[in-house]
Amino acid sequence: MSRAHNFCPGPCTLPLPVLNELQDEMVELNDTGMSVIEMSHRSSDYEAIHQSAIDRLRSLSAAPDEFEVLLLQGGATLQFAMVPQNLLTPGMRAGYVVGGAWGKKALNDAAKVGDAYLAWSPPGDGPATMPGAAAEVAIEAETSFVHVTSNETIEGSRMVDFSGYGVPLVADMSSDYLSRPIDWEHFDLVYGGSQKNLGPAGLAIVFVRSSLLEQSPETLPSYLRYDLHAKANSLANTPPVFSIWAMNKVLAWMEQEGGVAAMEARAGERSGMVYAAIDNSDGFYRNPVEPRFRSHTNIVFRLPSEDLEAEFLARADGEQLLNLKGHRSVGGIRASIYNAMPTPGVEALVELMGQFRKERG
Ligand SMILES: *Cc1c(COP(=O)(O)O)cnc(C)c1O
Repeated sequence: MSRAHNFCPGPCTLPLPVLNELQDEMVELNDTGMSVIEMSHRSSDYEAIHQSAIDRLRSLSAAPDEFEVLLLQGGATLQFAMVPQNLLTPGMRAGYVVGGAWGKKALNDAAKVGDAYLAWSPPGDGPATMPGAAAEVAIEAETSFVHVTSNETIEGSRMVDFSGYGVPLVADMSSDYLSRPIDWEHFDLVYGGSQKNLGPAGLAIVFVRSSLLEQSPETLPSYLRYDLHAKANSLANTPPVFSIWAMNKVLAWMEQEGGVAAMEARAGERSGMVYAAIDNSDGFYRNPVEPRFRSHTNIVFRLPSEDLEAEFLARADGEQLLNLKGHRSVGGIRASIYNAMPTPGVEALVELMGQFRKERG
């Protein structure tokens, strides 16, 4: 077996010990005579896994008791609709900070549900950027909530200050979920898909302040209502048991590795290694992001020409450094370095960057 270094932006590389455990337990869980994906989601064996995943999410993220933890389907994308469906009360508006492609998608879907407006976007065509402070965001009267994207996966930028919004704050944290601490006092709802830091695809993890649940309109179809999922402990209907089982193992691995503080330190070190290779390249590599908003999980860079970028990607592929191509909308190179990326993968990338520049620079 040969595991490549997988820099895929999502789904992402997972810890090898977790994959091995999944394999070992795949055919029969405990002594139940069946696999987890065949058993009732009302069985005590499954319920123990379900509760363990919820408890681990709560303890790893240090979420206070006044937050509910929901395990939902539809990925982060369904949350683009569910957030305004549940929180955008009639006669009110929702403000969206749009620092990149995902924020824009969230705004577009919210505008189909209710009165959503653009509260911030980057000035001009410069490097990718984010609001530095709430004061830069144009929050209008009658605003139910402001929505931010903590890390823009495609542009490679992240927000650093979530304080002072003065209205309920909702954050899409899909691409830096549990790779940095969540400062709960600033947030009322945070959500993200599972497949970038937490496990395989198939899940959205939503933390919502309990006091907001009263707002879910009774006219909403049942699956779309946060309050019903909260009441049923995310077992109102059949949950995606495989994804939850696998995520629970990733969360256990994160605990063993030192939790979110360790993940944050790693993300800082590993992204720092790539940014150093960029910044010390005499302009051969360029990162098109305002430095203080550089992402710690998605590092984008350009080479002097598209031909050189294609050549770099081919070389990387040859060395089993995979999925480094930037998103088709922006081009260039993107290294997605989530929690489970082994540091030797990052070292190999930095080594290749140095080599390639020596040959072509
Ligand atoms: C990947 C991503 C999404 C979409 O997630 P799905 O789970 O595929 O719906 C939304 N927001 C951000 C920031 C992302 O990185």
